[in-house]
Amino acid sequence: MSILLTPARTARLFAALAAQQQSLPSKQHPVPLPHCPAGRHRPHQVILKGDGTGLDFIGCGHAFTLTREALLAGLAAQRAV
Ligand SMILES: [Zn+2]
Repeated sequence: MSILLTPARTARLFAALAAQQQSLPSKQHPVPLPHCPAGRHRPHQVILKGDGTGLDFIGCGHAFTLTREALLAGLAAQRAV
């Protein structure tokens, strides 16, 4: 089952993912992956589908559907990090 993410939640998630990716080169203060929006756990991997229509959280097994509006909000937030 796939869960629909709102643009606001997608924006927060993408910003957190971008911050996490940017932290990798230093490794001294690694930023953890953001919590799964459907639970309290942290995934060990988050995969954006190639066509931008969904996010898969590896580790807890949740999958999210992104509308085009949500994807655009997420990408804008990602660029702003
Ligand atoms: Zn989850």
